[in-house]
Amino acid sequence: METILFLAHPEADGSLAKSALEALAATKQLADSLGAPFSAGLIGENPGPAADVIATSGAVKYYTVTGPGFSQARYVSDAAAAEAVCRASAATIVIAPSTSRWNRVLPGVAHRLGGRADTHVTGIASQDGKPELSRWFYRQRMEGVFSRATRPWVLALEGGIATAWQGAPGTAATEPISVSLPEPRTRVTGFESPASDQQTIRPDAELLFVTGAGWTKKQPDGQVKVAEAGTIILDFLNLSRSSLGSTKSLVDLGGEGQEVLPFLSHMNQVGQTGSTPRHAKGLSTCCHGEEPHTVGWRFIGERRAISLDANCGWSRGKADILYVADAFAVMSKVNELLAK
Ligand SMILES: Cc1cc2nc3c(=O)[nH]c(=O)nc-3n(C[C@H](O)[C@H](O)[C@H](O)COP(=O)(O)OP(=O)(O)OC[C@H]3O[C@@H](n4cnc5c(N)ncnc54)[C@H](O)[C@@H]3O)c2cc1C
Repeated sequence: METILFLAHPEADGSLAKSALEALAATKQLADSLGAPFSAGLIGENPGPAADVIATSGAVKYYTVTGPGFSQARYVSDAAAAEAVCRASAATIVIAPSTSRWNRVLPGVAHRLGGRADTHVTGIASQDGKPELSRWFYRQRMEGVFSRATRPWVLALEGGIATAWQGAPGTAATEPISVSLPEPRTRVTGFESPASDQQTIRPDAELLFVTGAGWTKKQPDGQVKVAEAGTIILDFLNLSRSSLGSTKSLVDLGGEGQEVLPFLSHMNQVGQTGSTPRHAKGLSTCCHGEEPHTVGWRFIGERRAISLDANCGWSRGKADILYVADAFAVMSKVNELLAK
């Protein structure tokens, strides 16, 4: 019989993130369908309160690794703690949310345990009493459903694939695991992140707003209007709170030293060699809609585009609605209406 372990780390305020509660729900569902027990492993400075939050989840045990050395994301401490909990629980299947912290250590933990890891898991189920998972391959073009015989099998679950676990809090009888760490060579001294109004990538936004190279091209009046383009785009982002995507051509221009939009980086690039974001709606502007770009729109629900070119890629079945119009004019008007 399988023995399942759910792994999580509390956030700085001691709570469990939504992605952790989603992974817990998926763990519970798998355990129920396999008729297998599951336990929880919580790693952090003081994970007791987080264990109490999920005390009624049905986990048979609540392992904790506690101490200031485990508060921050650091490979040596996270991997040692996860390995110790996996060994203590004798887990054959280990499930954790795909946080950057877990993604970094789980393959190494699986290696130490002689098991296998699969990351970016987008579905988990059981078939004939065996666990099966799904994930995407070849830059999200093919979905694979598969199982493995190797144990332990360590899985990092993508966010949004399960409904977050909800239940009454209680008092969890925790089982502390002692982990001795070597003198750490890595010390986390703090975080540096841009101000929230400079954060243009917003995975939770309803709308993906894509900017193409057309914003920086000579316009029908013979002028290049990069500064105006920047103002229109930022105004729209601030008013709509949408997430900013870009074509490769536009983000590449910066690397070539051309006048570009300073708030764009390769992190914004959507497409074959960029990201494949998930949003309910998408609006593309000044973009030609070529396949290497539109393939990144695979998970966008309703797609609209604004291009001057009636014969662009969007018009060939890539968009639900194509506005053949000047994006400068359309987006200025949209901003005006949103501001009201
Ligand atoms: C191996 C490979 C991988 C690639 N990977 C990616 C990828 O991951 N992502 C990606 O984006 N691309 C990728 N590309 C590049 C891709 O093929 C295109 O070259 C790129 O997407 C084109 O960007 P664009 O549409 O912004 O620019 P352009 O092709 O220059 O199109 C600009 C468009 O803006 C329109 N326009 C101009 N002014 C206005 C205006 N005022 N109002 C409205 N419309 C206007 C023009 O009519 C034109 O259609 C890849 C290419 C290769 C070969």
